[in-house]
Amino acid sequence: MSTYPNIQETKEIIKQLVSIPSPTGFTASAIQFAEDFLQKLHVETKRNRKGGLIATLPGENNDEHRMLTAHVDTLGAMVKEVKSNGRLRLDLIGGFRYNSIEGEYCEIHTSTGKVYTGTILMRQTSVHVYKDAGKAERNQENMEVRIDAEVHHAEDIRALGIEVGDFVSFDPRVQLTENGFIKSRHLDDKASVGILLQLIKRLKEENITLPYTTHFLISNNEEIGYGGNSNIPPETVEYLAVDMGAMGDGQSTDEYTVSICVKDASGPYHYGLRKRLVELAEKNNIEYKLDIYPYYGSDASAAIKSGHDIVHGLIGPGIDSSHAFERTHEKSLINTEKLVYHYVLSEMISY
Ligand SMILES: [Zn+2]
Repeated sequence: MSTYPNIQETKEIIKQLVSIPSPTGFTASAIQFAEDFLQKLHVETKRNRKGGLIATLPGENNDEHRMLTAHVDTLGAMVKEVKSNGRLRLDLIGGFRYNSIEGEYCEIHTSTGKVYTGTILMRQTSVHVYKDAGKAERNQENMEVRIDAEVHHAEDIRALGIEVGDFVSFDPRVQLTENGFIKSRHLDDKASVGILLQLIKRLKEENITLPYTTHFLISNNEEIGYGGNSNIPPETVEYLAVDMGAMGDGQSTDEYTVSICVKDASGPYHYGLRKRLVELAEKNNIEYKLDIYPYYGSDASAAIKSGHDIVHGLIGPGIDSSHAFERTHEKSLINTEKLVYHYVLSEMISY
């Protein structure tokens, strides 16, 4: 598997991507990274007003289009309150629990572009002082940011330029192990963004003309529900979201295969497209799993909900412990990369 042409490079792109802070609402640098990457390949791109990026590869058939998406926005937080004790209260961006960020190093991004580091902690962390340190609830009330600066009061914090509304990003803690694992926050969905960027690079390098004009939307508001629901050209027939596969008890998704989603909280994905994806996987020896994600929505379901008449699908690498301490394996990345490659080269389904 490690001989697959692009995997080291794909992992390197993912590593760079997860290292760029981009909580939803603060994604300019991550979008810039994708734009620079594509411009080097001489791929035409444009931005939408929401700040997402669209790249288009012209195809032989320009009457019927395809669209693929992956999102660069991630979980994060915002300063909710500058507290009188010299700490910050947070408000979370995206769906996750406070316990998954307890003890995490973070960065506070001020409106003037300054960056301060800090740690997200329970107010009652010190066991030498607080009897209930272990039992106290991990919530907005009890958790706060300890800024790495000498601050005693709210005024000291404000003197640094930190204010309500500043974005807070979490340390990605990215690590690539020698046996093929990639561990990091934000593999959702930067693993897939890396896969799509690598796919476009491969198509350009191999001078491949796609059968259909194909748009790639790097969306930036997925975690709050409306990332990929706009800028879908009317010619678009098939719309494939590439986003993480959800793992857990009862799930068939794993870290080694590509997960093909048959249904999530928004309902079933398009049956015909799902069957086509399975067919492509089987024909090309791509290891896959079919799965249902119970508490999940994607850019594709957001597009359907916003009223687009499209054939929608969802595939992606399996990500363990999603929205927390995420991990996947390069086998899953390879299988996903292969499936998107064969997909963009395939005939459309008849619907
Ligand atoms: Zn996602």
